[in-house]
Amino acid sequence: MRSEMENDILKVLVTEEELKTRVDQLGEILFEKFQGKNPLFLGVLKGSFVFMADLVRACQVKSDVEFIAVSSYQNATVSSGRVQITRDLQQDITGRHLIIVEDILDSGNTLAFLKEYFLAKGASSITLVTLLDKPSRRTKHITADLAGFTVPDEFVVGYGLDYAQQYRNIPYIGVLKPEVYAGN
Ligand code: 5GP
Ligand code: MG
Repeated sequence: MRSEMENDILKVLVTEEELKTRVDQLGEILFEKFQGKNPLFLGVLKGSFVFMADLVRACQVKSDVEFIAVSSYQNATVSSGRVQITRDLQQDITGRHLIIVEDILDSGNTLAFLKEYFLAKGASSITLVTLLDKPSRRTKHITADLAGFTVPDEFVVGYGLDYAQQYRNIPYIGVLKPEVYAGN
């Protein structure tokens, strides 16, 4: 496929094929765990939208989907540490089994905050699923129940993950060339 963004990519960390295989596995695992339980897939916007779309189709349980949007980066590549809800839940989650779908678990700030928030809202159980895990940068004591891939301490883009809101539509996970950040 032609791409305007290919030239900005230094290297590919996870290919499209690897993503597909792993997301299908995660879907199977979730199926085993949640069949008959009517879980709620809860995606953390915007980064999770591509993973969410593939994951819910890889897991054919009766379920519904919801989204919450948070912001902690404000166009930087390092978390500011403060998590703000920019689009709240649009439904009551009391008594629901939540499958939180996140693009990447980095410092842990976002998921530590959201976990408390969802428990306070009355969720019955919380299962954290993250496509990518960057354990080297964790500052909060939080682990994913399911993680697709462990990645090194590099800023990654693609498959939903952005740099300054761009590159989300790249179909694989890659690292940008340093000159792309120049001037920022
Ligand atoms: P945390 O709160 O765990 O530090 O970060 C979680 C959020 O930061 C993720 O949902 C993601 O949006 C963003 N993030 C962390 N690391 C990366 C990265 O390497 N690339 C991109 N594009 N976003 C990241
Ligand atoms: Mg993000």
